[in-house]
Formats: sequence, C-alpha cells, structure tokens
Amino acid sequence: MPNETKAIADIYYDPTLTPDAVHQAAEEMFLTMYQTPPSERDLNNHRYNSSVKSSTKVKTNLASIPPIKGAAKQHSFRMYLQPQKWLHNDSLNPEHWSCVRDDGGVLNPVKTTDPIAPDSVLNSIFCHCATGCGGRCGCQKAGIHCSSICGCDGACMKSAPIQEQDMEDEDLMDFEDILK
Ligand SMILES: [Zn+2]
Ligand SMILES: [Zn+2]
Repeated sequence: MPNETKAIADIYYDPTLTPDAVHQAAEEMFLTMYQTPPSERDLNNHRYNSSVKSSTKVKTNLASIPPIKGAAKQHSFRMYLQPQKWLHNDSLNPEHWSCVRDDGGVLNPVKTTDPIAPDSVLNSIFCHCATGCGGRCGCQKAGIHCSSICGCDGACMKSAPIQEQDMEDEDLMDFEDILK
C-alpha cells in the first residue's frame, strides 16, 4: 500500500472519529486510489471525466470509474465500522453508520442517499395527462412529482410512484418529444 494511502487508512483505527472526518478521509482515499490529477479535488467531476474518457475506448473499463460522492460517503461509513468492530469497539451503532435493517432484522448497506439523477434531468420528464394523472401517468411511473410543464399543470399533487408497471406507448412518446 503506498504511504499516502496508508496514512489515510491509519485514521480508521481511531475509535472517536466523527462521520465528517470519516467521510473526508475516504474522499481523499478515493481520489488517490482512482489516480485523480492533483488539480481535481472533486470526486463527482473525476467520475464524469473518467466516464467520458472510458467511453471513447474500444474496451470500457468500469473499474476505472470512481463512485459518486454520495455513494463514497456511505461506503466510507461502513469502511470505518468494519475495522472498529474488529477492534472490539462495540459502541458504534451500525444503523448510524450506513446500514439499515430489513424486515427480517438483517443489516443491509445504504448505497446512497443522493437523488437518482440531477433535478435538471428529473424535471425534464413530464406527462401529457389531460384528464387527471391516473395509472398511465409517466411522472407517477418515474416516481417524480408533476410540475407546471405537465399536462395536468402540476395540479394533480400525485407523488406515490407506481412500481411494477411497464412503460406504455403513451409514455414512450413523451420521451421521444424530449429528444426532438
Ligand atoms: Zn400525469
Ligand atoms: Zn406529470
């Protein structure tokens, strides 16, 4: 392990770290691991640049693309939790360190708490519902709120996404309209 990485890893032995300190150390580690140029200190920018670079190659190497900040943050909490457990520090509650219990009581990782896409992308999806937003509403299916550019003018106040329904022709038309 290079000295630089080891120095960052060493702080994970400290049983008194705050979530902020854990997250900051991890971000430094990810920047080092993914060979981010010294001029770039933002993991999201580096992810974007790596994706663009990777997409121009004949063989895409997904392993060269770093995680987004939100995922790196959640991962860092578990990266800290694990060695602390090995060191018999039982004062840390896993549910405060990026783990969530399912209905059976099993701990699962929280992958990220960030939105699935930037607002600018989410806001570019809209429905054409003229007579109220029902089961065929594209916004509902995408799990987003309707807005003033929707057919319903954002007045429907629908928010609960319908999960197990396939896209229908009407919704596909909406996306085609966006691409024009
Ligand atoms: Zn709608
Ligand atoms: Zn809508």
